[in-house]
Amino acid sequence: MADGPTSMLRPLVLVVEDEPALATMLRYNLEKQGYRVEEAADGQEALTRITETQPDLVLLDWMLPVISGIEVCRQIRRRPNTRELPIIMVTARTEDQDAVRGLNTGADDYITKPFNMEALFARIRALLRRTSTVPTKGRLDFHDITLDLSAHRVQRNGRAVHLGPTEFRLLEFFMQHPRRVFSREEVLDAVWGPDIHVEPRTVDVHIRRLRKSINGAGELDVVRTVRAAGYALDTEPV
Ligand code: CA
Repeated sequence: MADGPTSMLRPLVLVVEDEPALATMLRYNLEKQGYRVEEAADGQEALTRITETQPDLVLLDWMLPVISGIEVCRQIRRRPNTRELPIIMVTARTEDQDAVRGLNTGADDYITKPFNMEALFARIRALLRRTSTVPTKGRLDFHDITLDLSAHRVQRNGRAVHLGPTEFRLLEFFMQHPRRVFSREEVLDAVWGPDIHVEPRTVDVHIRRLRKSINGAGELDVVRTVRAAGYALDTEPV
């Protein structure tokens, strides 16, 4: 219990797992760690339970009946009220490709079956820590970049970076979700707003402008292009 959550309001974990024995085992161990647990046995039920119970984190099995884990993940990210919901994908597959696909679909982390409970708890704790401290105003930091929201200023490595309003909003959005890959449509939704009709290619144009401004001579390109998926703010290729 020493490492478990200590707050009076214990975090709620939604376990999405179609193998009853594994679901029971996860519930037992998570409750012992001090978490509250809800369960869903398929993808459709998962989406319903998320709406009903508003969990703090979803432990999402990849291979699920009715709606696959990856589709559940996609839908969670598509819905405005669950866009930020922390997701750990549980996969029986060992191929890195699948893990990358899971992350690109919007999962925050993944763990491969069979896994050790302590390893899972460590990931859950790390993810809850990470996602509960997202600043909404003030200052955002990523690598050597600082974005001052109130002063509307950007600095990289100590030098001032001048950005147009769209590039500023774009960078702000990416800095709020470092390392997460967003499709052009998702970027349009978040930065331009869902009611504005803009060609997805427009995103490419603004990304190009952002890159040109933010990446000085000899500096690392912090905007990663993920082929057929979109963009992420990242310092290392996957
Ligand atoms: Ca399964």
